[in-house]
Amino acid sequence: AIAENTPQSDYQLEADIAKTRAFTLISDLGEALRKDEGLYLVYQPKIELRTRKVVGAEALIRWKHPVLGNVSPAQFIPLAENTTLIRPLTDWVIDNVARQINRWKKKNLFMSVSINITANNLSEGDFAERLMSTLQDYQLTAADIEIECLETQKILESNVALSSIAMLKRLGFLISLDDFGSGYSNLTYLNKIPIDIIKIDKSLIDNINKDTNSRVIIKSLISMLHKLHYVVLAEGVEDQKTIDYLVSLGCDQVQGYHLSRPLMPAEFARWCENHDIP
Ligand code: C2E
Ligand code: CA
Ligand code: CA
Ligand code: CA
Repeated sequence: AIAENTPQSDYQLEADIAKTRAFTLISDLGEALRKDEGLYLVYQPKIELRTRKVVGAEALIRWKHPVLGNVSPAQFIPLAENTTLIRPLTDWVIDNVARQINRWKKKNLFMSVSINITANNLSEGDFAERLMSTLQDYQLTAADIEIECLETQKILESNVALSSIAMLKRLGFLISLDDFGSGYSNLTYLNKIPIDIIKIDKSLIDNINKDTNSRVIIKSLISMLHKLHYVVLAEGVEDQKTIDYLVSLGCDQVQGYHLSRPLMPAEFARWCENHDIP
């Protein structure tokens, strides 16, 4: 009887440990935000393939936990999204990005920065209004910021989220759709959300080097997205061969370790001065 119970108990124990860790992370993240301790942003360049120029950066959050060390956003963002923490977290990101752009401008580095926004952020009725007000505090406009959103299903289910996006678009923000082609999507939503830029998910880009069928899929996908007048960005590009292929397909922009990892602000500024795109 004991042996029979063991797998069940092990499973229960693991679930309890996961729950405890999640609880600890949520409570510590709340504290990190309140004290503004351990959180910082890194910036990954976006390159335009036609000109080989940096056309922007994506801000990505980092958290150095006092005991656990670096915790990945892939781990704590979903936890924040399931609690009320996503609002103060995104406020923190917006405030820090705006301050950074303002500093860069004073040094004659003009860089539009994209921020990652969740469906719950968009479901806050006053999201666009608060974003504009923070930008004004730093003498910035909608042209300085790009909005990256994912979870289209969740956005489509919320009228508030849909009207937030429409409002952001009217205010002049570029809207990009993150992780395109990952998981299930039926494409009909493309008509329902005013998207400017489509970011093709790394999982599809990685397949380019694997087989001919995958290359045919990417080729047709980019051609279709161009016919629909989207700007197409390929994310997670890790080698030159992939870049060469994307250039041959007329892909507009790329992001990935092969060009640059996400960088600290000072490193990013230096990178913009010195880089030579292959
Ligand atoms: P994402 O928005 O799809 O961001 C791209 C992720 O891929 C980043 O991971 C980036 O560091 C990584 N990456 C970029 N180029 C390469 C490459 O060539 N190879 C590989 N293997 N990885 C590459 P990161 O920073 O760990 O972020 C993970 C996810 O967490 C992001 O995925 C985004 O969904 C979320 N996230 C990060 N920062 C924020 C934030 O400030 N707010 C919100 N709401 N979500 C964020
Ligand atoms: Ca993103
Ligand atoms: Ca992405
Ligand atoms: Ca992703």
